[in-house]
Amino acid sequence: MQPASERFLEKKVALVTGASRGIGRAIAVQLARRGATLALVATTSEGLEPAAKECQDLGAKVLRFGVDVTQAAAVADLVSQVTKELGGLDILVNNAGITRDQLLLRMSEDDFDRVIAVNLKGAFLFLKAAARPLMKSSGRIVNIASVVGLTGNAGQANYAASKAGLIGLTKSTAKELASRGVCVNAVAPGFIATDMTGQLDEKARTELLAATPLGRAGSPEDVALAVDFLVGPAGAWITGQVLVVDGGLSL
Ligand code: NAD
Repeated sequence: MQPASERFLEKKVALVTGASRGIGRAIAVQLARRGATLALVATTSEGLEPAAKECQDLGAKVLRFGVDVTQAAAVADLVSQVTKELGGLDILVNNAGITRDQLLLRMSEDDFDRVIAVNLKGAFLFLKAAARPLMKSSGRIVNIASVVGLTGNAGQANYAASKAGLIGLTKSTAKELASRGVCVNAVAPGFIATDMTGQLDEKARTELLAATPLGRAGSPEDVALAVDFLVGPAGAWITGQVLVVDGGLSL
Protein backbone atom coordinates (compact mmCIF):
# COMPACT_ATOMS: atom_id res chain seq x y z
CA MET A 1 0.00 0.00 0.00
CA GLN A 2 1.39 3.43 -0.93
CA PRO A 3 1.27 6.37 1.51
CA ALA A 4 -2.03 8.32 1.36
CA SER A 5 -0.32 11.26 -0.37
CA GLU A 6 0.51 8.98 -3.26
CA ARG A 7 -3.10 7.83 -3.60
CA PHE A 8 -3.82 10.86 -5.77
CA LEU A 9 -6.66 9.13 -7.62
CA GLU A 10 -8.88 8.58 -4.56
CA LYS A 11 -12.51 9.30 -5.58
CA LYS A 12 -11.52 9.30 -9.28
CA VAL A 13 -13.13 6.93 -11.78
CA ALA A 14 -10.92 5.44 -14.50
CA LEU A 15 -11.97 3.37 -17.51
CA VAL A 16 -9.28 1.15 -19.08
CA THR A 17 -9.86 -0.86 -22.26
CA GLY A 18 -7.94 -4.05 -23.00
CA ALA A 19 -7.43 -4.49 -19.26
CA SER A 20 -7.48 -8.30 -19.03
CA ARG A 21 -3.75 -8.79 -19.53
CA GLY A 22 -0.46 -7.21 -20.58
CA ILE A 23 -0.16 -3.43 -20.64
CA GLY A 24 -3.85 -2.72 -19.89
CA ARG A 25 -3.82 -4.91 -16.80
CA ALA A 26 -0.63 -3.22 -15.51
CA ILE A 27 -2.26 0.20 -16.08
CA ALA A 28 -5.40 -0.86 -14.19
CA VAL A 29 -3.33 -2.14 -11.27
CA GLN A 30 -1.23 1.04 -11.14
CA LEU A 31 -4.37 3.21 -11.11
CA ALA A 32 -5.80 0.99 -8.35
CA ARG A 33 -2.59 1.61 -6.33
CA ARG A 34 -3.32 5.33 -6.70
CA GLY A 35 -6.77 4.81 -5.21
CA ALA A 36 -8.91 4.94 -8.38
CA THR A 37 -12.27 3.24 -8.87
CA LEU A 38 -12.10 1.20 -12.06
CA ALA A 39 -14.20 0.21 -15.05
CA LEU A 40 -12.31 -2.50 -16.92
CA VAL A 41 -13.09 -3.53 -20.49
CA ALA A 42 -11.90 -6.52 -22.54
CA THR A 43 -13.32 -8.95 -25.07
CA THR A 44 -14.82 -11.09 -22.30
CA SER A 45 -15.85 -10.27 -18.74
CA GLU A 46 -14.50 -13.64 -17.48
CA GLY A 47 -11.09 -12.82 -18.94
CA LEU A 48 -11.02 -9.72 -16.73
CA GLU A 49 -11.42 -11.68 -13.51
CA PRO A 50 -7.71 -11.99 -12.53
CA ALA A 51 -7.02 -8.29 -13.28
CA ALA A 52 -10.15 -7.23 -11.39
CA LYS A 53 -9.16 -9.38 -8.40
CA GLU A 54 -5.66 -7.82 -8.35
CA CYS A 55 -7.20 -4.32 -8.34
CA GLN A 56 -9.76 -5.25 -5.67
CA ASP A 57 -6.95 -6.62 -3.46
CA LEU A 58 -5.49 -3.10 -3.60
CA GLY A 59 -8.80 -1.74 -2.29
CA ALA A 60 -10.35 -0.65 -5.60
CA LYS A 61 -14.01 -0.92 -6.52
CA VAL A 62 -14.13 -2.55 -9.97
CA LEU A 63 -16.77 -2.97 -12.69
CA ARG A 64 -16.03 -5.44 -15.51
CA PHE A 65 -17.33 -5.25 -19.09
CA GLY A 66 -16.92 -7.82 -21.84
CA VAL A 67 -17.47 -5.57 -24.85
CA ASP A 68 -16.00 -5.42 -28.34
CA VAL A 69 -14.61 -1.88 -28.63
CA THR A 70 -15.68 -1.68 -32.29
CA GLN A 71 -19.41 -1.83 -31.41
CA ALA A 72 -20.69 1.75 -31.13
CA ALA A 73 -23.96 1.05 -29.29
CA ALA A 74 -22.33 -1.29 -26.77
CA VAL A 75 -19.57 1.25 -26.08
CA ALA A 76 -22.10 4.06 -25.55
CA ASP A 77 -24.17 1.87 -23.18
CA LEU A 78 -21.07 0.85 -21.26
CA VAL A 79 -19.92 4.45 -20.73
CA SER A 80 -23.37 5.53 -19.64
CA GLN A 81 -23.56 2.61 -17.17
CA VAL A 82 -20.14 3.58 -15.75
CA THR A 83 -21.09 7.21 -15.22
CA LYS A 84 -24.41 6.22 -13.60
CA GLU A 85 -23.03 3.52 -11.31
CA LEU A 86 -19.75 5.19 -10.41
CA GLY A 87 -20.92 8.81 -10.41
CA GLY A 88 -18.91 10.16 -13.37
CA LEU A 89 -15.69 9.58 -15.27
CA ASP A 90 -12.26 11.17 -14.70
CA ILE A 91 -9.80 9.08 -16.72
CA LEU A 92 -10.08 7.19 -20.01
CA VAL A 93 -7.26 4.91 -21.18
CA ASN A 94 -7.73 3.57 -24.72
CA ASN A 95 -5.42 0.56 -24.65
CA ALA A 96 -7.28 -2.29 -26.41
CA GLY A 97 -5.37 -3.28 -29.52
CA ILE A 98 -4.53 -6.13 -31.86
CA THR A 99 -1.99 -7.01 -34.55
CA ARG A 100 -2.54 -8.93 -37.78
CA ASP A 101 0.93 -8.71 -39.26
CA GLN A 102 1.59 -9.42 -42.92
CA LEU A 103 3.62 -7.92 -45.74
CA LEU A 104 1.58 -5.45 -47.79
CA LEU A 105 1.32 -7.69 -50.85
CA ARG A 106 -0.11 -10.51 -48.73
CA MET A 107 -2.25 -8.42 -46.38
CA SER A 108 -5.96 -9.11 -46.79
CA GLU A 109 -8.54 -6.36 -46.75
CA ASP A 110 -10.02 -7.99 -43.67
CA ASP A 111 -6.65 -7.86 -41.84
CA PHE A 112 -6.43 -4.16 -42.64
CA ASP A 113 -10.03 -3.35 -41.68
CA ARG A 114 -10.05 -5.27 -38.40
CA VAL A 115 -6.83 -3.71 -37.08
CA ILE A 116 -8.07 -0.21 -37.95
CA ALA A 117 -11.46 -1.01 -36.40
CA VAL A 118 -10.09 -2.18 -33.04
CA ASN A 119 -7.06 0.10 -32.65
CA LEU A 120 -8.42 3.32 -34.15
CA LYS A 121 -12.20 3.25 -34.41
CA GLY A 122 -12.46 1.63 -30.97
CA ALA A 123 -10.60 4.58 -29.45
CA PHE A 124 -12.79 7.03 -31.40
CA LEU A 125 -15.97 5.38 -30.09
CA PHE A 126 -14.78 5.63 -26.48
CA LEU A 127 -13.64 9.23 -26.95
CA LYS A 128 -17.01 10.17 -28.39
CA ALA A 129 -19.01 8.37 -25.72
CA ALA A 130 -16.84 9.64 -22.85
CA ALA A 131 -16.19 13.22 -23.99
CA ARG A 132 -19.12 14.81 -22.11
CA PRO A 133 -18.47 13.19 -18.72
CA LEU A 134 -14.74 13.89 -19.12
CA MET A 135 -15.47 17.57 -19.91
CA LYS A 136 -17.53 17.72 -16.72
CA SER A 137 -14.63 16.41 -14.63
CA SER A 138 -11.82 18.17 -16.59
CA GLY A 139 -10.50 14.65 -16.95
CA ARG A 140 -7.52 12.99 -18.59
CA ILE A 141 -7.31 10.76 -21.63
CA VAL A 142 -4.38 8.53 -22.54
CA ASN A 143 -4.30 6.63 -25.82
CA ILE A 144 -1.85 3.74 -26.09
CA ALA A 145 -0.25 4.11 -29.52
CA SER A 146 3.10 2.56 -30.55
CA VAL A 147 6.49 3.75 -31.77
CA VAL A 148 5.56 1.96 -34.98
CA GLY A 149 2.96 4.71 -35.51
CA LEU A 150 5.88 7.16 -35.66
CA THR A 151 8.48 5.10 -37.52
CA GLY A 152 6.47 2.59 -39.59
CA ASN A 153 7.40 -1.10 -39.67
CA ALA A 154 7.67 -3.66 -42.45
CA GLY A 155 4.92 -6.24 -42.04
CA GLN A 156 2.73 -3.90 -40.00
CA ALA A 157 1.22 -1.45 -42.51
CA ASN A 158 -2.23 -1.93 -40.95
CA TYR A 159 -1.01 -1.65 -37.36
CA ALA A 160 1.32 1.32 -38.05
CA ALA A 161 -1.50 3.14 -39.88
CA SER A 162 -3.86 2.52 -36.94
CA LYS A 163 -1.33 3.86 -34.44
CA ALA A 164 -0.38 6.87 -36.59
CA GLY A 165 -4.12 7.53 -36.87
CA LEU A 166 -4.46 7.27 -33.11
CA ILE A 167 -1.75 9.90 -32.71
CA GLY A 168 -3.65 12.24 -35.06
CA LEU A 169 -6.84 11.52 -33.13
CA THR A 170 -5.01 12.32 -29.88
CA LYS A 171 -3.72 15.69 -31.13
CA SER A 172 -7.07 16.72 -32.63
CA THR A 173 -9.09 15.83 -29.53
CA ALA A 174 -6.45 17.53 -27.36
CA LYS A 175 -7.15 20.76 -29.28
CA GLU A 176 -10.94 20.28 -29.13
CA LEU A 177 -11.18 19.46 -25.44
CA ALA A 178 -8.50 21.79 -24.05
CA SER A 179 -10.95 24.61 -23.37
CA ARG A 180 -12.79 22.23 -21.01
CA GLY A 181 -9.58 21.41 -19.13
CA VAL A 182 -9.28 17.88 -20.55
CA CYS A 183 -5.71 16.71 -21.28
CA VAL A 184 -5.36 14.17 -24.09
CA ASN A 185 -2.04 12.42 -24.67
CA ALA A 186 -0.63 9.29 -26.25
CA VAL A 187 1.96 6.87 -24.93
CA ALA A 188 3.99 5.13 -27.61
CA PRO A 189 5.57 1.93 -26.30
CA GLY A 190 8.41 0.06 -28.00
CA PHE A 191 8.99 -3.67 -27.58
CA ILE A 192 7.08 -4.78 -24.47
CA ALA A 193 6.97 -8.36 -23.19
CA THR A 194 3.27 -9.34 -23.42
CA ASP A 195 1.12 -11.99 -25.16
CA MET A 196 1.06 -9.71 -28.22
CA THR A 197 4.85 -9.83 -28.72
CA GLY A 198 4.90 -13.47 -27.55
CA GLN A 199 3.52 -14.26 -31.03
CA LEU A 200 6.75 -13.01 -32.66
CA ASP A 201 9.31 -15.55 -33.80
CA GLU A 202 12.72 -15.80 -32.09
CA LYS A 203 14.49 -13.97 -34.94
CA ALA A 204 12.15 -10.96 -34.76
CA ARG A 205 12.53 -10.77 -30.97
CA THR A 206 16.31 -10.94 -31.14
CA GLU A 207 16.34 -8.17 -33.75
CA LEU A 208 14.02 -5.96 -31.68
CA LEU A 209 16.16 -6.44 -28.58
CA ALA A 210 19.34 -5.69 -30.54
CA ALA A 211 17.70 -2.45 -31.79
CA THR A 212 16.76 -1.38 -28.25
CA PRO A 213 19.66 0.66 -26.82
CA LEU A 214 18.62 0.04 -23.21
CA GLY A 215 19.16 -3.65 -23.93
CA ARG A 216 15.97 -5.24 -22.59
CA ALA A 217 12.33 -5.57 -23.51
CA GLY A 218 10.07 -3.16 -21.67
CA SER A 219 7.64 -4.47 -19.07
CA PRO A 220 3.91 -3.63 -18.95
CA GLU A 221 4.77 -1.73 -15.73
CA ASP A 222 7.20 0.53 -17.64
CA VAL A 223 4.22 1.66 -19.74
CA ALA A 224 1.84 1.81 -16.77
CA LEU A 225 4.18 4.23 -14.98
CA ALA A 226 4.14 6.57 -17.99
CA VAL A 227 0.33 6.56 -17.86
CA ASP A 228 0.55 7.15 -14.09
CA PHE A 229 2.67 10.24 -14.81
CA LEU A 230 0.20 11.63 -17.36
CA VAL A 231 -2.93 11.12 -15.24
CA GLY A 232 -1.31 12.38 -12.04
CA PRO A 233 -0.34 15.85 -10.82
CA ALA A 234 2.68 15.91 -13.17
CA GLY A 235 0.41 15.74 -16.22
CA ALA A 236 -1.79 18.75 -15.43
CA TRP A 237 -0.29 21.01 -18.10
CA ILE A 238 0.64 18.45 -20.74
CA THR A 239 -1.68 17.86 -23.68
CA GLY A 240 -1.47 16.64 -27.27
CA GLN A 241 1.87 14.92 -26.67
CA VAL A 242 3.27 11.52 -27.54
CA LEU A 243 5.35 10.08 -24.72
CA VAL A 244 7.69 7.47 -26.20
CA VAL A 245 8.48 4.60 -23.82
CA ASP A 246 10.74 2.36 -25.88
CA GLY A 247 14.18 1.94 -24.33
CA GLY A 248 15.52 4.02 -27.21
CA LEU A 249 14.20 1.75 -30.01
CA SER A 250 13.05 4.67 -32.15
CA LEU A 251 16.27 6.69 -31.78
P1 NAD B 1 -2.42 -8.01 -25.35
O1 NAD B 1 -2.71 -8.77 -26.58
O2 NAD B 1 -1.64 -8.66 -24.26
O3 NAD B 1 -3.81 -7.47 -24.70
C1 NAD B 1 -4.77 -6.86 -25.53
C2 NAD B 1 -5.99 -6.49 -24.72
O4 NAD B 1 -6.93 -5.85 -25.60
C3 NAD B 1 -6.72 -7.68 -24.10
O5 NAD B 1 -7.23 -7.28 -22.85
C4 NAD B 1 -7.88 -7.93 -25.07
O6 NAD B 1 -9.02 -8.51 -24.44
C5 NAD B 1 -8.19 -6.51 -25.51
N1 NAD B 1 -8.87 -6.46 -26.80
C6 NAD B 1 -8.42 -6.84 -28.01
N2 NAD B 1 -9.36 -6.67 -28.95
C7 NAD B 1 -10.44 -6.15 -28.31
C8 NAD B 1 -11.74 -5.76 -28.74
N3 NAD B 1 -12.13 -5.85 -30.02
N4 NAD B 1 -12.60 -5.28 -27.82
C9 NAD B 1 -12.24 -5.20 -26.50
N5 NAD B 1 -11.03 -5.53 -26.05
C10 NAD B 1 -10.14 -6.02 -26.94
O7 NAD B 1 -1.73 -6.65 -25.83
P2 NAD B 1 -0.64 -5.70 -25.13
O8 NAD B 1 0.70 -6.09 -25.63
O9 NAD B 1 -0.88 -5.57 -23.68
O10 NAD B 1 -1.00 -4.32 -25.87
C11 NAD B 1 -1.85 -3.34 -25.30
C12 NAD B 1 -1.80 -2.09 -26.16
O11 NAD B 1 -0.45 -1.63 -26.25
C13 NAD B 1 -2.27 -2.31 -27.59
O12 NAD B 1 -2.97 -1.19 -28.06
C14 NAD B 1 -0.97 -2.46 -28.36
O13 NAD B 1 -1.10 -2.10 -29.72
C15 NAD B 1 -0.09 -1.48 -27.60
N6 NAD B 1 1.34 -1.74 -27.77
C16 NAD B 1 1.89 -2.94 -27.39
C17 NAD B 1 3.26 -3.13 -27.57
C18 NAD B 1 3.95 -4.41 -27.19
O14 NAD B 1 5.15 -4.55 -27.50
N7 NAD B 1 3.30 -5.34 -26.51
C19 NAD B 1 4.04 -2.12 -28.16
C20 NAD B 1 3.44 -0.92 -28.53
C21 NAD B 1 2.09 -0.74 -28.33
